[in-house]
Amino acid sequence: MKKWLLLSMAFYSANLLAFPHANPVPGGIAIIPVAPLSDKTPIVQYAGNRVTVVPLDSEWVAVIGIPLDADTGTQQLDTSTGSIPFQIQAKQYKTQRITIKDKNKVDPDDESSQRIIQEQAAQKQIKTHFTEGDAQLDFIKPVPGRDTGRFGLKRFINNQPRSPHSGMDIAAASGTSVKATAAGRVLHTDDFFFSGNTVYLDHGDGVISMYAHLSKINVAAGDTVQQGDIIGQVGSTGRATGPHLHWSVYLNGEAVDPALFLSSKK
Ligand SMILES: [Zn+2]
Repeated sequence: MKKWLLLSMAFYSANLLAFPHANPVPGGIAIIPVAPLSDKTPIVQYAGNRVTVVPLDSEWVAVIGIPLDADTGTQQLDTSTGSIPFQIQAKQYKTQRITIKDKNKVDPDDESSQRIIQEQAAQKQIKTHFTEGDAQLDFIKPVPGRDTGRFGLKRFINNQPRSPHSGMDIAAASGTSVKATAAGRVLHTDDFFFSGNTVYLDHGDGVISMYAHLSKINVAAGDTVQQGDIIGQVGSTGRATGPHLHWSVYLNGEAVDPALFLSSKK
């Protein structure tokens, strides 16, 4: 076999390793070919938001975040040359019941409710941020530890129904270092009512990760980070039952299951 062919195969498999698993269900990821590879990345939208588009072998493929509340069946991807249909399959998520001691974090007073409305609007802007350029899809788990709250769980907090779980909870002691899941830029840091001390990282082309309930934040907006850089420490700020890392990943503004980005490597 010729040397160049071996090299290109090695590159191809490395490229595949850095790819999320496709699972076209609510809260999952659809990977859909949109055009033959060219020197210009196609512009693709889903439900009005820009979609991550990356090269794979001889094609441009869209890496679509499917909303947790998406309808199953045929959905449309919008491109400059027309729409491309793709299918969403059904998924049933389990229920989780948790107890929060701080009553105001469950039934917020008027002042807190005002704060929550403003923060949710700000966070929506952050999650849908789109930086033109190459997407980093090679992810590591930000802290080692047991998953204690899987993505998508239907939640009852103090017996009251609440939004489904938008990330992965990883058990870790307070003060444990939190690592950047991939290279990128710090998009925003803040102390939010529910997510506490929070860092958002921009991994390019609409790929965003978020780290919540931190006891300490080590970075500031605009900082460049490499994969594995320490961005903060595990804590229990915001609405939390105890110290853990809540880790979310957003594609086209939609929270998707972070586990889909983790291959067998640790
Ligand atoms: Zn969580």
